[in-house]
Amino acid sequence: MSLVLVVEDDPTIGSALQSALGVAGHSVIWKRDGGAALESARAAAPDLVLLDLGLPDVDGLTICRELRMLLSSAVIVVLTARREQIDIVSGLESGADDYLTKPFSVVELLARVRAHLRRSGAETSGNDDDAVLGSLIIDVSGRRATIGGIEAPLRAREFDLLVRLSRQPGVAIGRAELMADVWDENWFGSTKTLDVHVAALRRRLRETADLASMAGPLTLPVITTLRGHGYRLDVGRPIA
Ligand code: CA
Repeated sequence: MSLVLVVEDDPTIGSALQSALGVAGHSVIWKRDGGAALESARAAAPDLVLLDLGLPDVDGLTICRELRMLLSSAVIVVLTARREQIDIVSGLESGADDYLTKPFSVVELLARVRAHLRRSGAETSGNDDDAVLGSLIIDVSGRRATIGGIEAPLRAREFDLLVRLSRQPGVAIGRAELMADVWDENWFGSTKTLDVHVAALRRRLRETADLASMAGPLTLPVITTLRGHGYRLDVGRPIA
């Protein structure tokens, strides 16, 4: 069981988060201002903090930096109503690990919390290969890729390809290596099938993102084609 500290002054959002996280099996402490949040962080050492940046008493980014100093190994997810990229960047520079822009879906929030806790080791029941790439969450053991809480309808090879690319974001991966890892060690036929699967993967992710973007802005990784070499998964910037 993991302990989540919710720092949110809005009573509607705070109580919704408290009950959703509780139903999902987490212990929850809910505080409504920065001072109380710091006290709880000191006393209870939570595994994950959901931090609203717009707090009544102190600037959210200041609280974020202080929480990071107190909780070196906890995951900090910033919740912001502001859509400017600058706030997101400042949040990440202030020690946050991830952010969600309001309004967000509770399904997406829970998926992110679960993935972060698994990766940080606070929850050991899951698969530690899970990846959070902006709004795209890859649940390897569940063979599920979701964007903004909506599951992308991927075929088996498309999912395997996405998992392989997501293991090394920002790194160029050669065609032969992708073919060997995703298809077969002894593959010696045409590698055109790789391009066909990449095209299908891009299309299905884009279609899912189109649906999910109705609920709010997204950040999505991009599969970049490297002519004469292979592919690279690039982690994208926020799309407002
Ligand atoms: Ca607020």
